[in-house]
Order: sequence, then structure tokens, then C-alpha cells
Amino acid sequence: MITCPSCQSENIKLNGHIHNGKQNHLCKDCGCQFVLNPSNKVVSEKDKALINKLLLEKISLAGIARTIEVSQVWLQTYISDLYASCPEDLCADLPDQASMCAHLEDKFDEYVYEIAALKKTLLCLNLSLHGKTLKHLSKI
Ligand SMILES: [Zn+2]
Repeated sequence: MITCPSCQSENIKLNGHIHNGKQNHLCKDCGCQFVLNPSNKVVSEKDKALINKLLLEKISLAGIARTIEVSQVWLQTYISDLYASCPEDLCADLPDQASMCAHLEDKFDEYVYEIAALKKTLLCLNLSLHGKTLKHLSKI
């Protein structure tokens, strides 16, 4: 006789199958769902290292779950734990604000200089074109 692992009731009904094909049961007394002899697979460190690499690629989570043969629920929990364990600044080495401002001011000056040079060139081209047009008109 099957008993509920939660309340020990024997008032159990079959409740379909879970993703791996195992029979699922439902306790009619407490509503608990359970599988007999669950084969909870322990995910190896090697598989976790592979999952970490796969997470950096543009692969769907369902695809990773299928390939590594872990459940999507396990994968989602693993990702949540991984995310929570990451430091807020992601260990980024950011420059201080003063040196960032100095860098931006230098860049700004460079662009202003380039724009001034470009304007000068355009002016010269325009004058030269104007001169050619006048010369051409004088011949007519
Ligand atoms: Zn129960």
C-alpha cells in the first residue's frame, strides 16, 4: 500500500506522470504530490562548469536543460543562486570620476579641433569651387 510521505494517509490516487515518465501520486487528504523512489540526480561539478560556459552563449535555458539532462526548475534555481552570489559591481575596475572627467574633456577638445579643421577645409574647397565657377563664367 502506498502512503503519503507528508501525512502517512493511504488515501492516494494516481496523478499522471512527471517529466521523466515516473508515476506521480496525489494524496487526497493533504493534497501532497509525490513520486515513489525519486531519482534525484546530483549535478556534478563538471556539469556545473559546463552549464556556466553554456550560460555565456546564446542558448535557450530549455536547450541547456535538455543537453545536460537537468530539470528546468533545477537550472532556474541554479541561475538564481549564481546571480545572488555575484558581487554588485561584478568586480569591474572603474576609473574614479575625476580621471573620467579629464578623459572626456580631452576627447571633447580633440573633436572641437577636428571640427574646426574640417570647417577650414570646407571653406577652402568652397572658395576654390567659387573661383573655378567665376573663371568658367568669364569665358562665356
Ligand atoms: Zn497526505
